[in-house]
Amino acid sequence: MHPSVKAKKHLGQHFLKDESIAQKIADSLPEVGFDRILEIGPGMGVLTKYLLSKNQALSVIEIDRESVAYLQSHYPDLASDILSEDFLKLDLKTLFPQKQLAIIGNFPYNISTQIVFKALENRAIVPVFSGMFQKEVAERIASKPGSKVYGILSVLTQAFYEVEYLFTVSEHVFSPPPKVKSGVIRLIRKQDFELDCDEALFFKVVKTAFQQRRKTLRNSLKLFELSADATADKIFSERPERLGVAEFVALTKLVEKQKRN
Ligand code: SAH
Repeated sequence: MHPSVKAKKHLGQHFLKDESIAQKIADSLPEVGFDRILEIGPGMGVLTKYLLSKNQALSVIEIDRESVAYLQSHYPDLASDILSEDFLKLDLKTLFPQKQLAIIGNFPYNISTQIVFKALENRAIVPVFSGMFQKEVAERIASKPGSKVYGILSVLTQAFYEVEYLFTVSEHVFSPPPKVKSGVIRLIRKQDFELDCDEALFFKVVKTAFQQRRKTLRNSLKLFELSADATADKIFSERPERLGVAEFVALTKLVEKQKRN
């Protein structure tokens, strides 16, 4: 058998030691609504083991060659579905044509927000996304308007997914322990996940608005060159941290209308 993998800091490797937590994360997936489970960063497979017992199609993506060798020797049945790749570089739609994917993982924290953005980009093929983040990031994704941590990631995720914060995990159940606590969240794509506005512009408006979160939208959205007339609507006197998804959609429509004139 392949010896245990030595944790590498630059790959965000913190291996989960507590089997009951691995089981709970695996059980956070719904039973139906997707064709294949895709685990990101399986490491030595603590979560993979419980995903395998679900009898659903499973692929895992692991960047670390040493972990891949470990997985191949411990999970020979999975061998052809172990991808030795960087998740951030994969073209999911080409790799899994016509498939609806449930993405899951105890994610490498150094790239966890990039993983969320990539899932959002691929929302047409990602109905379920569930896993462990550093607690602060998990809270940010789940937070509501008015919260201090509410921001780009919250709005963009909640535009397309129902977000649930499931539970918090202590740093002591990892080897080596990370500096911060972790949080497990689950995203379920909304039934109707097409926005009633120009979606590319929506992303741009949200990102621009939060670049200066203490300013009113009238100030922060200057680069869209809206006339005084166009920004007369009282929504422009708000700060981004007070607006929910529906308000950002309404705002995007106002910006869109102005651009066409
Ligand atoms: N799931 C395992 C390991 C978690 S640590 C456990 O719970 O014990 C995060 C894992 O993500 C590591 O195995 C690391 O090698 C892997 N990883 C880091 N960056 C990655 C990337 N870009 N693509 C795929 N896997 C990555």
